[in-house]
Amino acid sequence: MSETIFSKIINREIPADIIYEDDLALAFKDINPHAPVHILVIPKKPITKLETAESEDQNLMGHLLLTAKRVAQQINLTKGYRIVINNGSDGGQTVNHLHLHILGGRQMKWPPG
Ligand code: AMP
Repeated sequence: MSETIFSKIINREIPADIIYEDDLALAFKDINPHAPVHILVIPKKPITKLETAESEDQNLMGHLLLTAKRVAQQINLTKGYRIVINNGSDGGQTVNHLHLHILGGRQMKWPPG
């Protein structure tokens, strides 16, 4: 997998507003927020997209979801939030490093666009 903007954030080659980090994951504010709260949770392992995650990534995938939950608790999203994974071009994915969007701070609409 070629280097993406997110691997540069992991390696501190470019700045980001990082709000959580552990051995496996990083969470930082989206640079172009679509809600009052818009945070990205990414694995440090460079997985291109959900589609390319393997069975060996099962624990990591669970860790990312629980990390998103912990981050949402940490920033007091008590009324709820939405988790989104865009996969591939039809899914609207623009950065080829798996990421979970945490969107909150307003009422989400359904269906999404
Ligand atoms: P997606 O469209 O699902 O691939 O989401 C990629 C997200 O990354 C978009 O919401 C972008 O605003 C966000 N993004 C791109 N570059 C940066 C950056 N340098 N720092 C933080 N967020 C970024």
